Amino acid sequence: MRILGTDQDCQKLFAKGQAVMNTYGANTGSGLLSILDASGLLRYSSGFVTNGKTEWVSFASRTLDGTSKTNLGGVTTYASGNFVTPGGTSISTGTITLNVDSFVFIGLVSSNGRMTAVGSIAPSAFGGMNQTQIMAAAILHELGHFVGALPSDGAPGQSGLSNANSETIRRTCF
Ligand SMILES: [Zn+2]
Repeated sequence: MRILGTDQDCQKLFAKGQAVMNTYGANTGSGLLSILDASGLLRYSSGFVTNGKTEWVSFASRTLDGTSKTNLGGVTTYASGNFVTPGGTSISTGTITLNVDSFVFIGLVSSNGRMTAVGSIAPSAFGGMNQTQIMAAAILHELGHFVGALPSDGAPGQSGLSNANSETIRRTCF
């Protein structure tokens, strides 16, 4: 992803995860993303994803109206896969799963029972972004979790923190 290589503030944010990136043989967030993609650790789903234990996390779990699946764009789960490092060691790894039914791909969120363009909701972590930027920001958000550059925000009641993390990505990388 070009933005990771050209935006200095964004690079600085992801530099917090340099040790993790090194483990995967990546020098940059961009390099890590390519490695995760090639290793099957960047996934696309419309249903449920494993949280790496014995439970499953539903992409529908955070919706406001209880029916739409559009409001949870992605999940980074820890210890949910295996990766063989460049040194030949098999390690437990996280995975990033993007929700293909979500605003990341369709551009709409459920708000007060209505479907609304995510870029037009204010205040919004994705405010003013076009669809391509929204997709890129969502991937960067999850990559930020993966390398530990952003705090975890997946527990119930943490949607505010999730928005704050997305806001950090928007301000820092766009
Ligand atoms: Zn998050």
